[in-house]
Amino acid sequence: GITVGVLAIQGDVREHVRTLEGLGVRATAVRRTTELDACDGLVIPGGESTTMAKLARTFDLLEPLRQRVKEGMPAFGTCAGMILLADRLLDGAVGQETVGGLDITVRRNAFGRQVDSFEGDLDVAGIDGRVHAIFIRAPWVEETGPGVEVLARVEDGEAAGRVVAVRQGSLMATSFHPEVGGDARVHRLFVDLVTDRAES
Ligand code: GLN
Repeated sequence: GITVGVLAIQGDVREHVRTLEGLGVRATAVRRTTELDACDGLVIPGGESTTMAKLARTFDLLEPLRQRVKEGMPAFGTCAGMILLADRLLDGAVGQETVGGLDITVRRNAFGRQVDSFEGDLDVAGIDGRVHAIFIRAPWVEETGPGVEVLARVEDGEAAGRVVAVRQGSLMATSFHPEVGGDARVHRLFVDLVTDRAES
């Protein structure tokens, strides 16, 4: 079977591990290169992207992460994890680094302070039925490169039409937190990507 790592330097690691285990997948916390080497795919959780990037740099994980993503390791970022996987950032902290890999421009804290956190139901490409999405100081995707598939957009309110889930090859990212709330269907999409890649 496959092993999916969850980057465990900061953020809501446990929720991801639980969701993956619920799908019958071996899930491991990743804090060092040797742990990263053992993974067929990696989840980057929600949390605080500036802290995560700094700690990844401090723990000598940033370059190995970039390398693995470049080599085609499947990765799935949620919220702060989406920011970490983005090639380009708007409203990032000064000097904020990312792992990159996704040809997208992401705006941090995009929904603004008034609507810091909110929930809504979305259609997500590849999933039957509505997906309940929880947004917490979430980013959105402001631009997508030609190889990027939009999986979901905000459907109503001021932010209607904003892109909040994408896929490019083996890389996926959501602005929202599918690890919260017990719905494993978005993780299932990712696990299928990891399985396909591990078998090819
Ligand atoms: N606002 C956070 C950041 O910029 C992301 C929030 C989250 O992951 N829930 O990293």
